[in-house]
Amino acid sequence: MTVRNLLVILGDQLDPASPLLKDGDPTRDLILMAEVREESTHVWSHKARIAVFLSAMRHFCQQRRDEGWQVEYHHIEDANGPATLADALRFAIAKHKPELVRVVEPGDYRVAKALRQVAPHLDFVPDIHFLCPVKDFRDYAKERKQLRMEYFYRDMRRKYSVLMTSDGKPEGGDWNYDSDNRGSFGKQGPKAVPAPRAFKPSKITRSVLDTVDRVFPQHPGTCRNFDWPVTPQQAAEVLDDFLDHRLEHFGTYQDAMWTGEPYLYHSRISVALNLKLIHPLTVVQAAEERYRKGLAPLAAVEGFIRQILGWREYVRGVYWTFMPQGYASRNALAASNPLPKFYWTGETDMQCLRQAIGQTLEYGYAHHIQRLMVTGLFALLFGVEPKQVHEWYLAVYVDAVEWVELPNTIGMSQFADGGIMASKPYAASGKYIQRMSNYCTGCKYDPAQSTGPNACPFTTLYWDFLLRHEPALQANQRMKMQVRNLDRLSPDQKANIIRQADILRASLS
Ligand SMILES: Cc1cc2nc3c(=O)[nH]c(=O)nc-3n(C[C@H](O)[C@H](O)[C@H](O)COP(=O)(O)OP(=O)(O)OC[C@H]3O[C@@H](n4cnc5c(N)ncnc54)[C@H](O)[C@@H]3O)c2cc1C
Ligand code: SF4
Repeated sequence: MTVRNLLVILGDQLDPASPLLKDGDPTRDLILMAEVREESTHVWSHKARIAVFLSAMRHFCQQRRDEGWQVEYHHIEDANGPATLADALRFAIAKHKPELVRVVEPGDYRVAKALRQVAPHLDFVPDIHFLCPVKDFRDYAKERKQLRMEYFYRDMRRKYSVLMTSDGKPEGGDWNYDSDNRGSFGKQGPKAVPAPRAFKPSKITRSVLDTVDRVFPQHPGTCRNFDWPVTPQQAAEVLDDFLDHRLEHFGTYQDAMWTGEPYLYHSRISVALNLKLIHPLTVVQAAEERYRKGLAPLAAVEGFIRQILGWREYVRGVYWTFMPQGYASRNALAASNPLPKFYWTGETDMQCLRQAIGQTLEYGYAHHIQRLMVTGLFALLFGVEPKQVHEWYLAVYVDAVEWVELPNTIGMSQFADGGIMASKPYAASGKYIQRMSNYCTGCKYDPAQSTGPNACPFTTLYWDFLLRHEPALQANQRMKMQVRNLDRLSPDQKANIIRQADILRASLS
């Protein structure tokens, strides 16, 4: 076959309705797909994360071949296969001499740069899986002294007429029902949370799981619970199942955590969204429809839509507005400690971290508050170098891709960007975790104590964090109240906290 266009399909661009395919011609165009080791090893990827990408890619390839497309596909176990995406593209261009190479614009800067270096005239096709084009976000950012998600989100609601009344007001009178989204399960715990839709591995997935165990035996995590959606059909089922069974309580319990409950009322839709198995507007409109039909309360639906139409788009805009320009290496709080080893094993006597990291290694999943207010919070208070925190988050979650992970880690969780993403550091003591979960009841530490043998490390490190960064935090209007609480501590108490924090750091470093 003489190849007219070479259509490069990346592992996180698996939309069968992709503009590349819509404009393509199966008799004259060739699809190139490559499983390459670099994508699994540039950070020490969790086995389930590797598997989700490979399985979704192989299903996509199979479906396109069934439709009559020619697909040149490189398998990861092929010892003579390309090691990097750039190599795969270079070989394909030399072999087929296409008139044009086309690819949907990569989500990550690293990939875009590598492909451009091989084929400077590469035709980057806009990614239709985002609702705010990068250029629009950059223009939006230029017009503002300070970026804030809330105002961006309101504009997105107006732009897509989501949860709006006919006279242009927000549905229910308020833009945001966040204050209704902070419930905990009290002492009695969650009542019979409906299990999420899970998928028995297909023949293709089973072969991927075998491959991952063989090729990446030393990588963290396990594939033994692998049940993620890997096709657009499965993505649609995940959405329906969430809307039918868990959306109603999503809002109330969005921030709650509970021992042995990895998913609670969360949707598990991020993998499908990030691999482009489902379109964000499909998800948003389906949720809105549940509200319009009286099947789910406004606070729950608004809370869920805010995550996708608001946070997800905002985070992507921040990534492409501030990358490269050193965003990935920002370190506003000058944090330099190494990531404690237990992040890779879950072996710690801090019950909250044991739970959050344990389920991360077991399933490749933790929900937002576990990421932000347990693993992220500890790294922030401990003063871990942000780059190491970023590499951990990029490695261990099945939904991890850099455009979404990096601003969440560097910006929201570690405040290393100095306030681009978030208006203040998400700093809290162990008491926050006690309020939002039952973790502390099974822990040897006491969240109310900051010093002494039973002191909760979060609480010790929280006060130590405020003390270490007091001058900088004083200047932040939203931190003033928290910093003012330092006045309640005597000089002796402060000295004891600092001493205990130093011992803790030395013992965990
Ligand atoms: C340190 C840190 C790292 C993160 N890394 C990733 C990542 O690599 N990939 C990723 O998809 N999300 C990431 N998130 C955001 C969020 O934690 C996950 O999207 C969410 O936990 C996925 O589970 P879910 O689909 O059940 O989400 P739900 O709680 O059901 O939320 C619905 C959807 O909203 C979107 N969403 C929610 N919060 C965010 C957010 N802060 N940023 C972007 N989208 C959001 C996701 O698409 C999610 O699927 C990170 C958050 C933090 C604090
Ligand atoms: S006491 Fe502290 S370390 Fe233990 S679970 Fe609670 S917050 Fe975590």
